[in-house]
Amino acid sequence: MKPFAYVDARNEAEAVASLAPQRGRTLPLAGGMDVLALMKDYILQPDALVNVKALDGAIAPDAGGGVRIGASARLADVAGHPEVAKRFPALARAAAEVGTPQIRNAGTVGGNLMQRPRCWYFRNEEFHCLKKGGATCFAVDGENQYHAIFGDAPCHIVHPSSLAVPILAYAGRMRVVGPDGEREVEGDRFFLMPDRNMYGETVLEPNELVTHVILPPAPNVHSAHYEVKFKQSHDWPIVMASVALTVEGGVVRNARVIMGAVAPVPWRARAAEAVLKGQRVTPELASAAADAAVEGAQPMSGNAYKVRIARTTVHRALRQAAGLPPDV
Ligand SMILES: Cc1cc2nc3c(=O)[nH]c(=O)nc-3n(C[C@H](O)[C@H](O)[C@H](O)COP(=O)(O)OP(=O)(O)OC[C@H]3O[C@@H](n4cnc5c(N)ncnc54)[C@H](O)[C@@H]3O)c2cc1C
Ligand code: SF4
Repeated sequence: MKPFAYVDARNEAEAVASLAPQRGRTLPLAGGMDVLALMKDYILQPDALVNVKALDGAIAPDAGGGVRIGASARLADVAGHPEVAKRFPALARAAAEVGTPQIRNAGTVGGNLMQRPRCWYFRNEEFHCLKKGGATCFAVDGENQYHAIFGDAPCHIVHPSSLAVPILAYAGRMRVVGPDGEREVEGDRFFLMPDRNMYGETVLEPNELVTHVILPPAPNVHSAHYEVKFKQSHDWPIVMASVALTVEGGVVRNARVIMGAVAPVPWRARAAEAVLKGQRVTPELASAAADAAVEGAQPMSGNAYKVRIARTTVHRALRQAAGLPPDV
């Protein structure tokens, strides 16, 4: 591993001041599970790591009536927090499903949102693909069974963050700090497709940090999160979905349906949302919304199987959110 400096930032301001504006020169270090693995594999070779574990890690009421989660909160904290479980059960569920107890005890919310793609070409130093400044996406003619089925981007990663999926379903926002101060970014705008940022996956500049996730109040919201995995532990899902339905008088007034692991960003299924809005959720409607969710999918040579799984995933999340009995 290339020698690197270590900066132990005592607070948010010190952390931001220690980060360089050039991509890759300095990197935040949270739980370290992803960033250290990438360094050991020679994919990232920063001059310095900036320890950001002193960032806020509290899970507390937000002034707007919702909940505010600090970037240093651990996944286990989110999974086990009673207020999150009561008001934002899809997020608690997604956090509880991540990896293993050890991973949930070490991994942070900030690190989870900012973790890099799992594409095996990206993670292998032998492949100088588009995302690393090369000219080719090796997944197009190669092994692409876990890659994107939506987005038709030049790079076909799927975004790996499980937490991002329910956060977007609840219309959450991210607080970001940088040298120019702080701003809040809607979850829908936080993640960027590869044609807008090939070398990162979000709106963050190299010298910016995500410090909080803010979940707005969710009155009358019925929600659920569902994942399909090859094995029940220790791996990322093949597909996941979070659904948040605002229901008044039995009718869906607003719906947010987000799929994960299907596109380079958490993927909003607007066609499914349109099917649901203004309707009572019946088994037939849930089925029609799940069909709509996968309309327009563009699988690659080895991942057409994911389209059917994506449909099932949305269908099950939706039935659960609507209080319908499981279909199996
Ligand atoms: C076997 C295994 C299975 C896993 N399964 C899942 C899964 O199912 N779902 C899932 O979502 N994740 C899964 N993970 C990933 C794990 O949850 C993440 O690696 C972990 O959340 C990263 O968190 P960390 O705190 O260790 O981040 P780090 O490794 O410290 O950082 C990750 C990245 O984020 C950057 N960063 C960290 N904090 C900030 C910040 N505040 N602002 C800006 N940038 C920041 C770092 O520079 C780095 O690029 C799995 C990991 C393993 C090893
Ligand atoms: S999908 Fe993206 S990260 Fe993977 S090989 Fe293609 S360009 Fe590289």
